[in-house]
Amino acid sequence: MTELQGKGPRPGRPRAIVVGSGAGGAAAARELQGTYQVTILEAGREFRPLGLSLRWMERLRKWRLLFDERVISLVFPAMRVRRSSEGLVHVNGAATGGTTTLSAGNALRMDESLRALGIDLDREFEELAWEVPVSVAHRRSWSTETRRLFRVCEEAGLAPRPTPKMIDFDLCRRCGRCVLGCPHGAKWDSRRFLEDAQGRGAQLVTGCSVRKVVIRGGRAAGVRARIGMRSVFFPADLVVLSAGGLGTPAILERSGIRCEPRLFVDPVLCVAAPWPGSRQHHEVPMPFVVQRPGYIISPYFDYLSFLFNRRWRRPADGVLALMIKLADSECGRVPARGSRLDKRLTAEDRRRLAEAEALCRDLLARLGVDPADIFLGTLNAGHPGGMLPLTAADATTLHPARLPANLYVADATLLPRSLGNPPILTILALAKRVARVARADAEKRSHVAKELRFDGEAAIRHSGTWRKRAS
Ligand SMILES: Cc1cc2nc3c(=O)[nH]c(=O)nc-3n(C[C@H](O)[C@H](O)[C@H](O)COP(=O)(O)OP(=O)(O)OC[C@H]3O[C@@H](n4cnc5c(N)ncnc54)[C@H](O)[C@@H]3O)c2cc1C
Ligand code: SF4
Repeated sequence: MTELQGKGPRPGRPRAIVVGSGAGGAAAARELQGTYQVTILEAGREFRPLGLSLRWMERLRKWRLLFDERVISLVFPAMRVRRSSEGLVHVNGAATGGTTTLSAGNALRMDESLRALGIDLDREFEELAWEVPVSVAHRRSWSTETRRLFRVCEEAGLAPRPTPKMIDFDLCRRCGRCVLGCPHGAKWDSRRFLEDAQGRGAQLVTGCSVRKVVIRGGRAAGVRARIGMRSVFFPADLVVLSAGGLGTPAILERSGIRCEPRLFVDPVLCVAAPWPGSRQHHEVPMPFVVQRPGYIISPYFDYLSFLFNRRWRRPADGVLALMIKLADSECGRVPARGSRLDKRLTAEDRRRLAEAEALCRDLLARLGVDPADIFLGTLNAGHPGGMLPLTAADATTLHPARLPANLYVADATLLPRSLGNPPILTILALAKRVARVARADAEKRSHVAKELRFDGEAAIRHSGTWRKRAS
């Protein structure tokens, strides 16, 4: 059933449609509400964390009901899993809050590639420092194993650092379930911005999947969406697409706007070892991070592999794993229709992945693991973007030239490069700026329109006087 949430439209304001309620959509909607009457269209339903206990997960696994990663959405509809042509498993959020609800809570500023284009987001990051609470207070409750791993990384000269987290550690119960949705309201996700926007009058429509942007006379007239079996047209003065790195390119392509085959996804691979009493699943995930050129390494309890990977059929408490997150080549595409993605790792990606894997094996061996016992997790990914990358020419407008004047994109689709790092904070900052530019542009146009109207009225008055005089 579709749900419409919000205070109801305020008449007299121009209408903005924001598609998607994840990092980009929530930040853009919050910024635009007021100048515009904003309606957020979200394909998913209201987010609920996964309710299954670890014991039940282990039972389902034992009964062999978890035979394919894609079945996860039967018990956890907020998580969507797809496969690309090479079997790479792609995970993203499909409910209010988008993928931010599934995040590990990492909060890193990663805007070097945008800065290189001349896009300075200092102001937005400064604001976010007040709006999104970030802390490393989790460090004081690290397990013995995490402390030992941290020391091993230090001794290897890898300069590990505690990961800044968008988590309120007064509320956090160290349950380790961040990527299944925080059951205790401790982790920040974009639903907070969504609530702010709704508090100021924005409307949220859930269960509403946008098919295309309707373009008339070179302008976006609105969007066509599917709500259940119905096809509904939402008229708009401004359209902002924030359906994520996989959703936005598909909408653009269906609307006749070509994207670039430059999909990146930040592939993830866990390198693990048997380690009785690791307690890794009872700790905040990714407690510290080692940042290397082209990849990062961080301790991680890999639920995806734990549930679906045969090599991982061990008690949750008996595995210790290091995650590799790779900055992959910008190469791949999302189809306009269907869910099979075209994404392959290049030879250079595989070379870097092998280098990172060797480093993880070495770190685990230094910890005391027998190298013969090491096993790998499922290759997966959850940071898609890059199919409408910003260029230096877009540095002030943040509006790629192929888009109609009143159609903007505000999500990971705009990122020029794979970050190989957590992107939420950067997407929030970028989406804020996009919304500001769109708002300023609208204000300028309405000012010009007012002036034109004023000039027009003056001309009519003048011509009336002239006619009177002439008669
Ligand atoms: C397991 C996991 C852990 C992660 N951990 C972190 C972390 O710790 N820190 C970090 O920075 N990043 C993390 N990420 C990545 C981060 O969550 C995403 O990169 C980020 O949320 C992307 O923001 P976005 O706005 O581009 O898209 P999303 O947040 O994915 O939002 C897109 C929204 O659009 C909706 N949508 C899609 N298509 C349509 C349509 N046709 N019509 C209407 N709505 C549509 C979707 O349902 C979704 O709600 C993680 C990702 C995963 C998978
Ligand atoms: S560890 Fe548990 S309580 Fe803490 S933020 Fe993660 S999910 Fe929430």
